[in-house]
Amino acid sequence: MILRLFLFISFFTFSNVVSAEYINIGILNSKKITEFTFSVRAGKYALFSSKGKVKEFNSGESIIIKRSSTSISVYQNGSLLGNFSKINLMGLGWYNHFMIGSEQLDNLDRRYDDNLKVSFNSAQLTLINNIDLDNYVAGVVEAEVGRKPPKEYFKLQAIICRTYALSNTHKHLYEGYNLCDEVHCQAYHGKTFFSNIVDAAMQTRGAVIVDSDIQLITAAFHSNCGGQTVNSEDVWTKSLYYLRSIEDTFCLNKRNSTWEKEIDIGMWNNYIASATASLPKDSIKGAYYSPVRSKYLLNSNLAFEDLRNKFKLRSTFFNFYEDNSSVKLMGRGYGHGVGLCQEGAMEMAARGYTYSEILHYYYSGVHIIDLAALDFFKED
Ligand SMILES: [Zn+2]
Ligand SMILES: [Zn+2]
Repeated sequence: MILRLFLFISFFTFSNVVSAEYINIGILNSKKITEFTFSVRAGKYALFSSKGKVKEFNSGESIIIKRSSTSISVYQNGSLLGNFSKINLMGLGWYNHFMIGSEQLDNLDRRYDDNLKVSFNSAQLTLINNIDLDNYVAGVVEAEVGRKPPKEYFKLQAIICRTYALSNTHKHLYEGYNLCDEVHCQAYHGKTFFSNIVDAAMQTRGAVIVDSDIQLITAAFHSNCGGQTVNSEDVWTKSLYYLRSIEDTFCLNKRNSTWEKEIDIGMWNNYIASATASLPKDSIKGAYYSPVRSKYLLNSNLAFEDLRNKFKLRSTFFNFYEDNSSVKLMGRGYGHGVGLCQEGAMEMAARGYTYSEILHYYYSGVHIIDLAALDFFKED
């Protein structure tokens, strides 16, 4: 009964952020498109204006959508179908996907699942891909990690991307959609045609990660932790119980396990002098070695994260020593180091760990639950 009550309450938390299994993604909007070709690649589409259905299109048919000074003009085979302030191209078949082509953008050719909304805007056309959440998740997984990781890995990346999407649906509400298609939200370049990724998104359909209060977690991840992950409060201000520093031997000897960098000694010393008052001057002479990750350099109030930002370092996990004219840094890992280590997780997947075991390894004390189960409890 207690569990049911929990899930019942938490459903409303979810329902505030997403109303259905469809999500609105702003696509190609930074490219400022004013004209493009819409082609039906599978299924069937209908063009709707605010007054109702205008026309249907079968697979293989295409239309040109153009921004004029006051409206959106739609043409097919050279003849005008109408002028509108906004249009919806809605998939009517069981499986629908379309292509966006644009000569304006170096013959751009992008494929997308499901529906497209286009609206008139003062400078450009605003494009929104209204898409089934799991179709979107599959596209994001390919854009974020490519096709190389082991099959099992795609499942956990799908769960992370789904969790992130559902907890960030407010990011672009002022622009009329949930998330954008760039790294500001999550990279998304449209539909994936890679079956291992499509399968991973479908096999984990609806699965999200929640904390002990059944709230979606901050599913932080990075490329390589260098052998030890970082507590969330050492990079950001918030301490989250599931983002704890853990030892990770799975990511050693990988592409992003180590790095080196040389910095001019004058720049280094000036920054340290300006950034901190309490670092003993002698302590930065010669070698510095830290066997474990820490938030601050030696006993100072200078955070490694500030050094990383200032000198554009790959990670906050490094040793250094001074040479005559430079400081030599020998670093480990790539990224902020909080949460899931991607190269470690890929190695675990390759060794036969399941997506659930891997997620629980990097996010301690979380739960993987199904959004559909929450629906069920709502009906109950
Ligand atoms: Zn964004
Ligand atoms: Zn790692």
